[in-house]
Amino acid sequence: MHSRLVGPYIGKLGTEEQKQRFLPGCASGERILGIAMTESGAGSDLAGMKTQARQEGDHWVLTGSKTFISNGINGDLFVVAARTVPDKRHGLGLFLVEGDMVGFERGRNLKKMGLKAQDTAELFFDKVKLPAVNVLGDPEKGFYNLMHFLVEERLINAVGSISHAQVAFDLTMDYIGERKAFGQSIAAFQNTRFKMADMGAEVIRVDRVAMPQESAKPGVQRAGAQKARDPLIRGRRSIALNLKSKAGIGALLRLIDQADALFEGFRPGVAERLGFGPEQCLERNPQLVFGRLTGWGQEGPLAQAAGHDINYIALSGALHSIGRRGRKPVAPLNLLGDFGGGGLLLAFGMVCALFEAGRSGKGQVVDAAMLDGATSVMSMFFGFAANGWFDDAPGSHMLGSAAPFYDTYETADGQYISIGSLEPKFFFKLT
Ligand SMILES: Cc1cc2nc3c(=O)[nH]c(=O)nc-3n(C[C@H](O)[C@H](O)[C@H](O)COP(=O)(O)OP(=O)(O)OC[C@H]3O[C@@H](n4cnc5c(N)ncnc54)[C@H](O)[C@@H]3O)c2cc1C
Repeated sequence: MHSRLVGPYIGKLGTEEQKQRFLPGCASGERILGIAMTESGAGSDLAGMKTQARQEGDHWVLTGSKTFISNGINGDLFVVAARTVPDKRHGLGLFLVEGDMVGFERGRNLKKMGLKAQDTAELFFDKVKLPAVNVLGDPEKGFYNLMHFLVEERLINAVGSISHAQVAFDLTMDYIGERKAFGQSIAAFQNTRFKMADMGAEVIRVDRVAMPQESAKPGVQRAGAQKARDPLIRGRRSIALNLKSKAGIGALLRLIDQADALFEGFRPGVAERLGFGPEQCLERNPQLVFGRLTGWGQEGPLAQAAGHDINYIALSGALHSIGRRGRKPVAPLNLLGDFGGGGLLLAFGMVCALFEAGRSGKGQVVDAAMLDGATSVMSMFFGFAANGWFDDAPGSHMLGSAAPFYDTYETADGQYISIGSLEPKFFFKLT
């Protein structure tokens, strides 16, 4: 505040006389600086300030009050913003007010949650008589001077806030690893992991702008109560954009500019046509990890064909192997194509790419297809087949209901029990 934020106002706007008069004391620490802009009715809207400075002969008269002023109690020289042109919204001037000037008073030292070493206080000016040599810069251009210096202040604040948040996160990670409860570290509890994941990554989901008749469709727009029960959208913010409009695509690209990673699941070519293909995005944000998931792949004979999990896993050979001998294959819900083979394959690729981007600063495209993913999770069975241990028909393998020790059995109460006694010693125990 003192040296990085307020000092430069005098250094850059001050006259030689002002610099000679004030800066040596500021540098030695004998004089502490503050800046007073905010008023109870003028915070973000600085141009709405009421504190006034009126020129009377060879001096100015300052009247009004300020609040939330850092160093308000400890400071002895303040850059004070005040209205100098009554009927002009941006007609403000900056003035150097010294702590011992007649009519200048300090109010309460305000309570706050942090930054205890730096007080935050109210200031009052009751017809404070300021010599003309205490006017800082052009007395009608104060607003524009503030705009210039506030840019740097905001940037410093933003960087500081991110660093504080990162340190808090890192300290919490250490703490949850060390702290034990119920016999294990609290990092092992799911709730702790959810909380850390929420803080570690911000996920924004881009939804379609729903038509009224569509609002009940799952995935289009979900009511608050439904959302709360849906783990797939937990902790994510959502933004509804019409990607066919210029404004919608513009908003998406602005989000992409700031993102570490983007995931899209359109059919091949759609993202490019809409204007956010990998080339466009990586040109704007070279560190971006651009993840894309399709059913059949970006290229190939089926690339443009519609499909669902059941179709992808059928072609991979996985579906054919699931079911009872002599009966038709059974779809294992959509666990194999959408999630296990597709989603997790892509997620792994994207995490690797994020790791790379963190080291080299280079983003990349991670392209996963559910057909490939489902095929790759079948690797073990393809190996079995090559060795002659698996004939790929439903129910032909011990892991696919061909063995009594790895199957489900109906229980007396009409439910089912799973038995997975693969190891002979457990199977003998069971029998
Ligand atoms: C610890 C601390 C130290 C400070 N030190 C100083 C200091 O040294 N000197 C000084 O002059 N001031 C200081 N301030 C004041 C600070 O600059 C103001 O708090 C800030 O400008 C916001 O003003 P406000 O608090 O009146 O909030 P308001 O302007 O009332 O805003 C309240 C909320 O409304 C939102 N809002 C306002 N306008 C819009 C809009 N147009 N669109 C959308 N949302 C909007 C804001 O984002 C905010 O969330 C300090 C504040 C704090 C907390």
